Amino acid sequence: MIEELSVKTRESTELINLTAEVQAVVGKSGVKNGICIVYVPHTTVGLLINEAEPGFQFDLMKVLDRLVPQQASYRHPDGNAHAHIKAGLIGSEKHFIIRDGRLVLGTWQAIFLCEFDGPRTRSVMVKVMEG
Ligand code: ZN
Repeated sequence: MIEELSVKTRESTELINLTAEVQAVVGKSGVKNGICIVYVPHTTVGLLINEAEPGFQFDLMKVLDRLVPQQASYRHPDGNAHAHIKAGLIGSEKHFIIRDGRLVLGTWQAIFLCEFDGPRTRSVMVKVMEG
């Protein structure tokens, strides 16, 4: 089973918590034990597992801005090289274990889409497999 979620981002950079949406896809699949793959088919978006605490989210974006400034002597012509680099650092996919019909996540773990070149409409692919 593959489901495509559509996510509208509102800011140029932001983190959007997708945990409930991904869990809903797992629930709908009926799979009790298996694997869930979440993948974003974009070059300026990342997929992150981390804490759903606003201070952390601010800190992460601040650190990424410091590491990868918006303006630098980039060769990429679109003016969004920083967004591509940040997305590359974060990565585009995650795998999850499904146990008893639920994603196995730590107490503080949440799944985030990391927008680095918004606002845009983004796709999130969710594949659920039994096993
Ligand atoms: Zn570009």
